[in-house]
Amino acid sequence: MMNSLKPHHAVCIPYPAQGHISPMIKLAKLLHFNGFNITFVNTEFNHKRLLRSNGPDFLSDHHNPFFRFNTIPDGLPGSDVDATQDTPTLCESLRRNCLAPFRNLLFKLNSAEDAPPVSCIVSDGVMSFTLIAAEELGIPEVLFWTMSASGFLCYLHCDQLIEKGITPFKDVSYLTNDEYLERNTIDWIPGIKELRLRDVPSFIKTTDPDDIMLQVLLEEVGRTKESNCPIILNTFDALEHDALEAISSILPPPIYTIGPLNSLSKHILHDKDYMNTVGCNLWKEERECLKWLDTKDPNSVIYVNFGSITIMTSEQLVEFAWGLANCNHSFLWVIRPDLVAGDNAVLTQEFVTETENRGMLSGWCPQEEVLGHPAIGGFLTHSGWNSTVESLSSGVPMICWPFFSEQPTNCRLCCKEWGVGLEIEGGVVRERVEKLVRELMEGEKGKELTKKALEWKILAQDSTTRENGSSFMNFDELVRHLLAGHN
Ligand code: UDP
Repeated sequence: MMNSLKPHHAVCIPYPAQGHISPMIKLAKLLHFNGFNITFVNTEFNHKRLLRSNGPDFLSDHHNPFFRFNTIPDGLPGSDVDATQDTPTLCESLRRNCLAPFRNLLFKLNSAEDAPPVSCIVSDGVMSFTLIAAEELGIPEVLFWTMSASGFLCYLHCDQLIEKGITPFKDVSYLTNDEYLERNTIDWIPGIKELRLRDVPSFIKTTDPDDIMLQVLLEEVGRTKESNCPIILNTFDALEHDALEAISSILPPPIYTIGPLNSLSKHILHDKDYMNTVGCNLWKEERECLKWLDTKDPNSVIYVNFGSITIMTSEQLVEFAWGLANCNHSFLWVIRPDLVAGDNAVLTQEFVTETENRGMLSGWCPQEEVLGHPAIGGFLTHSGWNSTVESLSSGVPMICWPFFSEQPTNCRLCCKEWGVGLEIEGGVVRERVEKLVRELMEGEKGKELTKKALEWKILAQDSTTRENGSSFMNFDELVRHLLAGHN
C-alpha cells in the first residue's frame, strides 16, 4: 500500500450522525492513504458543527492536499444548535430531500477541472438515495452498513418479522411489558442464536405499521438487496462469523468486513501521524481527562459514556450519579450537554463533594484514547456499535445500558455470546448500578469478563494487523475492487 495520488476519486457520504461519521472518516482516510482523492460529504448542519467544534483546521491536512469536504442540505430548517437531531425526523427528511442535491454535487464534481471525475461512491447503507444517483451517472457504489453484522441481519429480516406478525405489536402495552419481551424469543434467524424480543433492534418494535423508522428500514434494506452492491461492515470474522455467513447467503458477495476500523486505521495509518488534523468530533473534545487518568492505578477507573444520541431523564442521571458515588471506584463520566432531556439537570453539590477525589466529569472525550488507557478497567456504555468494537479492541469489559436502534442486540451479544458484558436490567436504580460496577471492577465475574475481553482484543488485533488477518486482507481487496472501478 502506498501514498501517491492516482486518478481515483471516491465520494464518501455518511449518515449524518457521529456514530456513522466516525467510522466513515476512518475509511476515507484509509482510502486516501491508498491513493484515492476523497470528497467527504457532510450535511450543512453537521459541517457547521464540525467547524465550531474542531476549528477550520479540520478541513485540511497540509501533507495530503486532496481530501476535501463538501456539503448537501439535510432538508430540515437551519439551526446552529450543537445537539443531535431527532432520528426519525432526520431519516424522513434525508430520503425525501437529498437525492437532488447529491446528484447536483456529483455533476459539479465531475465537471471540476482540479480533480478527476468521481470513480466510486462509498455510501452509508441508510443513505440509499445515493444508489439512484450512482446508477443514473453510471458510478460504482459500495454500501457501508456501520452497525454490527447481527444488527444488520435483524434488519435484513424485517419483512419476515412483519409477515410472521411479530411486529407491529398489537398495542403499546406490549412495548413496555418486560415479561412479554423476555419470554418471547426469536430463534429462526439464521446466524443469530436466540433473541428475546427485548434484544431486537428498537426500530422494529413498534405498534404502527406506518412507523417512520420501520418504513425507512424496509426501504433502505430493500434497496440494498436490489442493488447487488458490495457491502462493508465494521466487524471482524472471528467475532460475528455465523451472522456474516448468514448475510452472505442473503446478499451477493463481496462483503468486506474490515473492522474494528479503529484498530485497522491505527495499524495502517500509524495513528497520530496521518492526517491527524482532519477530525470528526461534533462536540469539542476535552483532553484533560487523559492527564487525570495518568494519575490513576491500572484498571482502577470505570469509564461512563452513552455516545452521541442517547437521551436520559434527570431521574436516570441522578440514579447513575449515586450508583457511581456509592460504588467507591474512580470514574470518568462523559455528560454531553444534550444528554439529559428537558431542563439541564444539575448534579448536586453533595454528589460533587462525595466524589471529589475520584470522579472526573467531561463533556466529550477522545474515547479511543480513553479506552486504550491502562487506568480504565471497565466501560459503562449504551452499547453503540462503535463503542462496543472500540471497547473490545482495547480489551475493556462492559456494563451495558442499551438505549435504542441495534444497541439491545449488541448488548445481548456482549453479555451472552462474547462473555464481556453485564446488562443493567429492570431500569436504572442506584443500587443496581453500584452492584454491577462493583461486580465488574472487583468481583470474580469481573475477572472473567476482563479475561474474555482481552482474548477478543487479541483476535481483533490479529484480524487487523496481521498480513493474513481477515480484516486486513479484506481491506486490501476492497481497495482493489474500488480501483478496478467495477459496477
Ligand atoms: N465518542 C467520542 N467521545 C465521546 C463520545 C463518543 O469520541 O465522548 C465517539 C466514540 O468513540 C464512537 C462514536 O463517538 O466512535 C459513538 O458511536 P457509537 O456507535 O458508540 O454510538 P452512537 O453515538 O452512534 O449512539
